Amino acid sequence: MLKELHLPNISTAMKRTEITELGEFGLIENLTSTFKNKNHSSVSAIGDDAAVLQFENKQILVSTDMLIEGIHFDLTFHPLKHLGYKAVVVNISDIYAMNGKPTQITVSIGISNRFSLEALQELYDGIALACQRYGIDLVGGDTCSSKQGLIIGITAIGVAEKDVVVYRSGAKEGDLICVSGDLGAAYLGLQILEREKRVFLETTQMQPDFEGFDYLLERQLKPEAAKSALELLESLLILPTAMIDISDGLSSELHHLSKKSGVGVVIYENKLPLHPQTKETAEMLNLDPTVCALNGGEDYELLFTVKQEDYDKLKDTQNIHIIGYCAHLSEGLRLITRNNNAFDIKAQGWKHY
Ligand code: ADP
Ligand code: MG
Repeated sequence: MLKELHLPNISTAMKRTEITELGEFGLIENLTSTFKNKNHSSVSAIGDDAAVLQFENKQILVSTDMLIEGIHFDLTFHPLKHLGYKAVVVNISDIYAMNGKPTQITVSIGISNRFSLEALQELYDGIALACQRYGIDLVGGDTCSSKQGLIIGITAIGVAEKDVVVYRSGAKEGDLICVSGDLGAAYLGLQILEREKRVFLETTQMQPDFEGFDYLLERQLKPEAAKSALELLESLLILPTAMIDISDGLSSELHHLSKKSGVGVVIYENKLPLHPQTKETAEMLNLDPTVCALNGGEDYELLFTVKQEDYDKLKDTQNIHIIGYCAHLSEGLRLITRNNNAFDIKAQGWKHY
């Protein structure tokens, strides 16, 4: 996947079809005609004034997110196909964070004449790949022009049975705090990409050196949603008491969870899951890996709490890590370091570059 990575890449295709040749309807037809519905709930999708969805006795989850060029992504190092994939993942991650199953998305794009049909098709190839991987249908959207940057707005729709929807507010004192996967890698991937971009802009002909950073780059450019962690929990018959996805960094999400649930939080530095490449690269860049795990954004892992009695079921799982416990609200939010000092966890949310 990362073989497609090169600088700069705004349009990598040889052929360039101007959008003005196609018109709005021709463009929409070109971008969406190969999408086929996979879910019974998608009764009628693209081509009418609104999509028609039908769900029986389910709770419907809706979430929307916007990605803006220059704020959320940089096309000099983000291939459009990866970007399409990531835009979908970022949105359905919110549905998974409610313990729901994403079923449909709508995609709205604001585009300037900088983008050809071929470039937008790359974006939609990435969207199609994510739809395939996660079993969701593209059921609509909107297309309009923008003066300069690319804007991608995605709305995700999902379903869940009423008694399995998990809110941010359900954590109780004594519950265990868990995270899926590992933390901090996407942030370091961005640091590497920005470093290579600076080198590239200064020397213009030097090829970027991404050797040994493949995991970090993949986590930044083409993240996955934590679907498999939820499947594991379901197979273990564990229903989290509270859950949130980690988009802005662990410390920020812990603050949301604490506030909504009315509990304090104690987590342990030595329990924070770090990939070996995260540790090595943080050290190379003179960054503290723990700070990257706490404050780095865009991991799209799940932060959740479970009852203490579920400890035995979780203690040996590969992909889920118990990092601490919920305390009384008066205890605040604390990180216990490797040498047993306690620090207040600041809500230092992820700032987009
Ligand atoms: P309207 O004028 O009623 O807003 P549009 O011409 O914008 O309708 O859209 C026609 C159909 O194409 C609708 O079903 C809409 O949801 C879908 N659509 C428009 N733009 C996109 C897009 N970028 N991606 C996917 N579907 C789209
Ligand atoms: Mg429209």
